[in-house]
Amino acid sequence: MESSPAFNIPNALQAAIARQARAAPVPEALNQSDRDALFERCADQLRTHNATLVAHYYTDDSLQQLAEATGGKVADSLEMARFGHQSDADTLVVAGVRFMGETAKILNPEKRVLMAVNGAECSLELGCPPDAFTAFCDQQPNRTVVVYANTSAAVKARADWMVTSGSALSVVRHLHAQGKKILWAPDRHLGHYVQRKTGADMLLWQAGCVVHEAFRAEALLALKAKYPDAAIVAHPEAPEPVVELADVVDSTLGLINAVRDMSNPQFIVATDRGIFYKMRQAAPGKLLLEAPTVGDGAACVSCAHCPWMNMNSLASLAYVLDTGAHEVTLDDAIRTQAFDCVNRLLTFTQR
Ligand code: 13P
Ligand code: SF4
Repeated sequence: MESSPAFNIPNALQAAIARQARAAPVPEALNQSDRDALFERCADQLRTHNATLVAHYYTDDSLQQLAEATGGKVADSLEMARFGHQSDADTLVVAGVRFMGETAKILNPEKRVLMAVNGAECSLELGCPPDAFTAFCDQQPNRTVVVYANTSAAVKARADWMVTSGSALSVVRHLHAQGKKILWAPDRHLGHYVQRKTGADMLLWQAGCVVHEAFRAEALLALKAKYPDAAIVAHPEAPEPVVELADVVDSTLGLINAVRDMSNPQFIVATDRGIFYKMRQAAPGKLLLEAPTVGDGAACVSCAHCPWMNMNSLASLAYVLDTGAHEVTLDDAIRTQAFDCVNRLLTFTQR
């Protein structure tokens, strides 16, 4: 069954998103002794405030190490939500991007939720403005609205289901089996992938991830020719020609598990390179190669790193823990409506 485009992002919005991605500040590099001192200071502060650090796989190695060393969690977006919900800490500190902090707050209104850095966006969230999204949903009253986790709380409040890359296929299969037609937002590549795999009737919002959209199939084939024994693993936010070349297509957690479990000596990884920290832990000795982000002859061969995830640093976290800055707050009505759609996924994935 063919899916048809649902909402094309206006050129002006696309240009604004690209500008914001380019303008994301890059944290200052630290020497080892400054890094160690900040690491200890953050660990102390986390203990003092009964706070837990929940970090995404794309964040800096030092933040992932800190989460591991202090009883926090390094995870994909589904596990980040689940862990935060089950944690008995008073404060959740989210190293990642804004929608991850908002999801934590939606699920845990009684907890203080702090972002490890202010202004960490996501091109998918930016590409799905709540007003335009709501208007579009209103025109499609017979469709079940399924949104990716990478959306604002206001968009989740208008949706029936939230899904993550690790749960999208099973949720859509479940809905398709019930004869439901779907309105999907915002990632067009993930939506298209899920549509191809499930055969569900899906209208697709046309936003994209600035990181994954840059992977290129031709250059990937050229790299694979140099490493014929390598397996290709790809996140489903990558474009279809890249996904078609992949041996494994999965969420960030699924890709880490694939690198651990497959016997190939080398892996070409079509997702953010922040994930290499956990992949190296899971599969020591295997060679990890970044999938190319542009064609032959161009200067940038491996720019696969989210500019907003990259804003999170030990220094930004230390500031947040010292000051209590960057607390996530949500309008109560939006939070309550969004809770149903997020919690539906947690309940579904527990079954
Ligand atoms: P995961 O849910 O696979 O962690 O993906 C989140 C994300 O932002 C990928 O770009
Ligand atoms: Fe959003 Fe892409 Fe960054 Fe993930 S990698 S947070 S989808 S911009």
